[in-house]
Amino acid sequence: MKPIVNDSCIGCGTCEAVCPEVFKMEDKDDRIIAVVQKADYKTNKDKVDEAITACPVQAISWE
Ligand code: SF4
Repeated sequence: MKPIVNDSCIGCGTCEAVCPEVFKMEDKDDRIIAVVQKADYKTNKDKVDEAITACPVQAISWE
């Protein structure tokens, strides 16, 4: 399983603050959005779940 970020991301930075091992803010097409980095998703599962809950626009889910 891998976390994914959909187009509704507003670039608030919360997921990166909660789990910087997995989420990183990036400038893409003049927008700041969260991208999923290569990481051990299993080890970071709890923090990814926390980021999913904390995301204000429900942009993160497990693939
Ligand atoms: S918490 Fe949600 S809206 Fe904020 S940067 Fe992460 S994916 Fe985007």
